[in-house]
Amino acid sequence: MMALADFEYGDTIHRCFRCGYCKFPVDWTDVNNCPAYARYRMETYSCGGRLWLTRAWLSDEIDWTAHFAHIMFSCTACKNCEAKCPLSFNVDILNMITAAKGEMVERGTIPPLVKEFLENIQRHGNPYGTPKAKRGDWLDGMGLKPYQGQDYLYYVGCIGSYDTRAQEIARALGAVLDRAGVSFGVLGVEEGCDGNDVNMIGEQGLFEVLAEDNIAQFKDLGVHRIVTLSPHAYNAIKNEYPCYEGDFEVLHYTQLLQCLISDGDLDISKGFEARVTFHDPCFLGRWNGEYEASREILQAIPGVTFIELEKNRESALCCGGGGGNFYIDFLGGSPDSPSRRRVREAHETGANILAVACPSCLNMLEDAVKSEELEDKISVQDISEIVAKACGITA
Ligand code: SF4
Ligand code: SF4
Repeated sequence: MMALADFEYGDTIHRCFRCGYCKFPVDWTDVNNCPAYARYRMETYSCGGRLWLTRAWLSDEIDWTAHFAHIMFSCTACKNCEAKCPLSFNVDILNMITAAKGEMVERGTIPPLVKEFLENIQRHGNPYGTPKAKRGDWLDGMGLKPYQGQDYLYYVGCIGSYDTRAQEIARALGAVLDRAGVSFGVLGVEEGCDGNDVNMIGEQGLFEVLAEDNIAQFKDLGVHRIVTLSPHAYNAIKNEYPCYEGDFEVLHYTQLLQCLISDGDLDISKGFEARVTFHDPCFLGRWNGEYEASREILQAIPGVTFIELEKNRESALCCGGGGGNFYIDFLGGSPDSPSRRRVREAHETGANILAVACPSCLNMLEDAVKSEELEDKISVQDISEIVAKACGITA
């Protein structure tokens, strides 16, 4: 078992002095930064709390408990603490939390839901435990081509492939790319899990297997360019796969659509009337610095009035779905859940559409709209389906 002296960050983790800037970035009333702290309002669920607990655990000052594991795995890997912490060690905060989760994985002391999440991916290649044979069901009746050397591989990911609501946006994006004349193909039932959330959970061994399998498959097929539905897959392929000799040109789909629209290759002139606000996905924004593509798309649609959320770009509150939490949902079940806080914030802008660009955010926020009983006031829509509508494409 690893001791503090063997921990890669053993000499830096003490630098957090729990000043609290990462949980109260404006003043003490502003709790909407760390989604886990916003949900539980306990120091232990904040970034500083996690770092101090980890240090105490690795120093044998406290024992592992199921509650401690809940605290660690409720971190959504949103990076909002890194963005707000004023100290230079902030670049390693997420690495420290993920390494601590990884040590729990190594010791086999993880919450049952995290175990189930990882076992489902190991056995079935997706977190739901649905048979792999069903991975291509979202394609039924679409007429999309399998990948055979086209310009782009359209990588859909687990949520877009299996989740009923997310399948709609996978199909909407396929239809939009088709309409724009983009040369692309899909993997369907042959597609594997990208592993981003496995990596954030700290299961490094499983992540390596998934990454190496995907890289080998992409290389065998001659893939050079990839467009992803999910920012999570975008993050893994862009930032992690190169560590395993997987060097591909990868775009999140909003980046490709923004180019197609600005080059005049996608006709969105049909437009529609709506007041639209936008929720920045953590793995597009803070993890990869992409804040503008989605906004430029929305602002280009005739009839759309764009309104910013109060917490936007680098300060956007996570929906609560990162780090595997869209599945384990350790932050759910309360009006203080980050998804419900975010939906209330969106409603307060006066928008009637909350736009997202991630299948995980879509599910988290749509459920929150129902919990808040705001279905007749605001709907959650992915940019893929907003653009499809602006093109006159009907489902
Ligand atoms: S992580 Fe940084 S901002 Fe947060 S409590 Fe520690 S030192 Fe303060
Ligand atoms: S990454 Fe997000 S959830 Fe995790 S400690 Fe930092 S702010 Fe909180």
